[in-house]
Amino acid sequence: MAGLDGKVALVTGAARGIGAAIATRLAADGAAVAVVDLDEGTCAGTVAAITAEGGRAVAIGADVSVQDQVEAAVARTVVDLDRLDILVNNAGVLRDNLLYKMTADDWDTVLAVHLRGAFLCSHAAQRHMVAGGWGRIINLSSTSALGNRGQANYAAAKAGMQGLTKTLAIELGRYGITANAIAPGFIVTEMTAATAARVGADFEQFQQLAASQIPVGRVGTPADVAGVASFLASADAEFVSGQVIYVAGGPRG
Ligand code: NAP
Repeated sequence: MAGLDGKVALVTGAARGIGAAIATRLAADGAAVAVVDLDEGTCAGTVAAITAEGGRAVAIGADVSVQDQVEAAVARTVVDLDRLDILVNNAGVLRDNLLYKMTADDWDTVLAVHLRGAFLCSHAAQRHMVAGGWGRIINLSSTSALGNRGQANYAAAKAGMQGLTKTLAIELGRYGITANAIAPGFIVTEMTAATAARVGADFEQFQQLAASQIPVGRVGTPADVAGVASFLASADAEFVSGQVIYVAGGPRG
């Protein structure tokens, strides 16, 4: 348990997948959670899972790449849940293609959601953390930050998340705020299912192939990532900042 009673977390892209798992885990640790995704209606399942366990959560619709919507989401979090202590920048999209086929729109969309989104959310959230003298920013990077065929846009965004994280750690540490990144490898979600579909692979076989290349011999689950997010939000991680933790069943998945 992370002992997050009295804390408030905002998790982006929390309608499903890794974001939903992090939101429910932080709620189980005691935090009230703003469940943010593109469409407020899609957040209902995550909010219901949290409230069914006695937790407190609100659904908020926002596109993390649009500054007005981000500012409004943070403002609503503070109005509805009283404060904001923990930000998890998790929202993400893929527009995979080999470089020669990748369009400028593919590039812009991925950079806008992951990197601009993380910047805008951090920018809007930090002032509440500074005011409270305590904060946690957790950014979702990826093993793709190390380079991945067909993912020039995504790899650049996820490497950018690491640089952003380290800079946030340097600038905000004096205010009691830590910033860290989690870099997952293969995690079973709709994102990896969509990748399998795009290359015409059966998802079960796709997972088996991935597992055969992972040192611990299995693919990851959203709960694997949520456990690390829970640690990074906890008091035990008070002196951990500016780090990238690979959650990949091996050194790089
Ligand atoms: P996912 O299942 O595709 O979920 C992503 C969520 O983000 C969706 O609910 C999506 O909403 C939302 N979203 C997309 N664009 C948004 C925007 N502009 N504003 C707000 N929300 C937005 O993905 P996941 O697998 O859980 O991945 C979560 C994070 O982990 C991502 O940053 C991803 O890059 C990273 N990651 C995943 C893996 C993996 O193997 N799965 C590995 C490494 C890193 P819609 O459904 O409405 O589009």
